Amino acid sequence: MKSDARVVVIGGGVVGVSVLYHLTKAGWKDVLLIERGELTCGSTWHAAGGMHTLNGDPNVARLQQYTINLYKELEQISGQSCGLHMPGGIMLAGTRERFDWLKMAKARGRYLGMELELISADEAARVFPIIDKKYFVGALLDPIEGHVDPYGVTHAYAKAAQIGGAEIVRHNRVLDLKPRTDGSWDVITESGNVHAEHVVNAGGLWAREVGRMVGLELPVLAMQHQYLITEDLPQLKGQKELLTCIDFEGEIYTRQERGGVLLGTYERAGVPWSPRETPWDFTQSLLPEDLERIGPSLEVGFRHFPTLAEAGIRKVVNGPFTFAPDGNPLVGPIRGLRNFWVACGVMAGFSQGGGVGLTLSQWMVEGDPGADVWAMDVARYGDWATLAYTNAKVRENYSRRFRIRFPNEELPAARPLRTTPVYERLQAAHAVFGDYCGLEHPLWFAPSAEQAHEDITFHRSNAHPHVGEECRAVQEAVGLLEISNYGKFEVTGSGTEQWLSYVMANRVPKVGRIALTPMLNERGKLIGDFTMCRVSAERVFLICTWAAEVYYRRWFERHPPPASVTVRPCAMEYVGLSVAGPRSRALLQALTPTDLSSAAFPFLSFRPLDIGMIPALVGRISFTGELGYEIWVTSEYQRALYDVLSSAGRSQGLRLFGGRALNTMRIEKSFGTWAREYRPIYGPHEAGLGRFVDFGKGEFVGRAAALEEKESGGALRLITFSVDAQDADASGDEPIWHEGRVVGWVTSGAYGHRARRSLALGYVPAPLAAATEGFEIEIIGERRRAQPESAAVLDPSGSRMRS
Ligand SMILES: Cc1cc2nc3c(=O)[nH]c(=O)nc-3n(C[C@H](O)[C@H](O)[C@H](O)COP(=O)(O)OP(=O)(O)OC[C@H]3O[C@@H](n4cnc5c(N)ncnc54)[C@H](O)[C@@H]3O)c2cc1C
Repeated sequence: MKSDARVVVIGGGVVGVSVLYHLTKAGWKDVLLIERGELTCGSTWHAAGGMHTLNGDPNVARLQQYTINLYKELEQISGQSCGLHMPGGIMLAGTRERFDWLKMAKARGRYLGMELELISADEAARVFPIIDKKYFVGALLDPIEGHVDPYGVTHAYAKAAQIGGAEIVRHNRVLDLKPRTDGSWDVITESGNVHAEHVVNAGGLWAREVGRMVGLELPVLAMQHQYLITEDLPQLKGQKELLTCIDFEGEIYTRQERGGVLLGTYERAGVPWSPRETPWDFTQSLLPEDLERIGPSLEVGFRHFPTLAEAGIRKVVNGPFTFAPDGNPLVGPIRGLRNFWVACGVMAGFSQGGGVGLTLSQWMVEGDPGADVWAMDVARYGDWATLAYTNAKVRENYSRRFRIRFPNEELPAARPLRTTPVYERLQAAHAVFGDYCGLEHPLWFAPSAEQAHEDITFHRSNAHPHVGEECRAVQEAVGLLEISNYGKFEVTGSGTEQWLSYVMANRVPKVGRIALTPMLNERGKLIGDFTMCRVSAERVFLICTWAAEVYYRRWFERHPPPASVTVRPCAMEYVGLSVAGPRSRALLQALTPTDLSSAAFPFLSFRPLDIGMIPALVGRISFTGELGYEIWVTSEYQRALYDVLSSAGRSQGLRLFGGRALNTMRIEKSFGTWAREYRPIYGPHEAGLGRFVDFGKGEFVGRAAALEEKESGGALRLITFSVDAQDADASGDEPIWHEGRVVGWVTSGAYGHRARRSLALGYVPAPLAAATEGFEIEIIGERRRAQPESAAVLDPSGSRMRS
């Protein structure tokens, strides 16, 4: 084994070898993989090898497509067969709702270039003869599905990497990792030490243990997973290979395995494996079979697939593999650790391993993942994702693997975890809560405790009229919203302005003022949108997206402030309430001696104010598009603030409103939001944020690329559409059609109660931005006429906010 390497990859499962191969492909040849046993000896070797292109996140779906298309290339380079079988796949719907879900999956597949086909139950039984069609209402066919041989794939990656210059050392455990002051690592192994510039944790089942070597508690947990293989079925003899299949209602997947069928299930009562520590002596091992546990799923399966009920069982496999709380991989650099990378929590290594390797290698070599990988970025989790939280969420996710997640559905596991001081007061006001980074926040308010429950649906839910009333209260009188779930940073010290001016695209505002700003990466793409609130010359309060806090902190480490500047996350230290609506000024004025007239406290002002007895930071801004104020207090004051606002608001017609109403109101104003309209695949000009990029202020990150985008006009354009919807609105990821062709996708959608119409925001190619006709948006399989709007549908001049 060499004693120095540019990169040491820990782990020779399908993910580690993919990272290794992609590093060599990207030009880094001095790379070493260390494996404690044989390649594949973790979760990889006993996998069923199935692969699918569909994923809830379109960007992950793209990486899955990439993975599946890679196998031929790997075979060619390595000469090693991947055991590739591509019979295509069928997804069976047992209910109308599931069929609606398949229609939506097909629609999403359109702009990903997938050739998906919806078929009837009769047709399904024809192309997939082992089912009893009476249990199904229809199905979706996907030609790009199949299965591979896990051993073959892993060795194909390994050989291709070795051909590219990589070294692989087996039977050598990494025992410890020691950082050097220059950011490099000493990798301590059973067979000696290696000095490495970079380390990649691809430890799979042992990713937690490898993480702990550097003080990290990664949110991953292994679950036991079982599949069985039947004896040969006479019906399959001499026939074309069976399609791979997912039976959602049975929570079962199948594929042909030689002359029999492999049937696996994600049972509801899933069982974690080694919840705290993974034993090091678990090598190429399996767990005892437990058919009783998957009995209920098998019963359904045998009804749906009667042929299988008659077949004998040749083999049962029970093996563990790891999941992150949301089921997507954990990939990327770790905040606070230099040159330490992870590629773990990959639950579908044969669909995702290639995409994970590609992404991580580009990130390491180019400094940027090269795609929008937010859905699998390790930075989407913070310290709140503890071992016990992860345990609860992973079990929930596993049990729901084949269940529908409705656009308005909130999941119950690991709740409540974080609450703010006004939680009980909001609960008493019949709030229906959502979960955001483990924090309970109000979505909407029901008229009574009995009604404080939302039906999950693709259509408008029982919340619809109540959200409408909340919006009307904000439009006509005043609404009160809890806004604690915004991210916050405090930047202080001499040099604050210079540093912010360099990392943000807009000019830092004057003292007492607010400025909105995109944050760009070097490619000039959007990696954040911030509200900069200048409290004093050397103190700026930043408001942003809380879910991206770790992501931003990691970015700030890459562009560090000078020693005189402190950047402090303070999301839960400052909690907030917002009042919005034409009577919000009168309400607040009754509680403070400070003159709040528009002349004295105009739109985009920000200042410390006393509200009653409560010291607060107050900004004159509201995401609702109405006259409004955001009020930030340290948490011990929030209850008192709530009480004074509530009692002073009584005479003004104050009504509580929640995140649902806020969402529809910001869409009516064409205000985008991070992770929806603003993502690293869009530039500021494309996203309509060009006016917040100040090219006159000097150098800032992404300036050259943003200038280029401005001059070229960019490739895409964010458009607001009024949609002829009926009882279902767009919610995101629906295709946008133009004159019979899919040209774009929806980023957000909702019914605009003030504008009285269904709305959607979405991207289309820039040359189509001026088209005024011919657009349609596909909602649950129906193409609905969509009218592009040249400006926000509500108060386009912004006079209400400024009044
Ligand atoms: C029963 C079952 C069926 C499955 N079916 C499918 C399927 O159909 N399709 C699909 O895509 N996925 C399937 N999977 C999941 C798939 O197996 C995983 O996604 C994949 O194996 C993850 O690979 P990995 O490289 O991340 O982890 P692992 O395979 O666990 O690899 C990690 C490697 O790191 C090594 N390692 C760890 N720590 C150290 C150390 N300190 N020093 C040296 N080496 C170390 C380990 O020995 C191991 O070889 C299935 C899994 C199971 C259990």
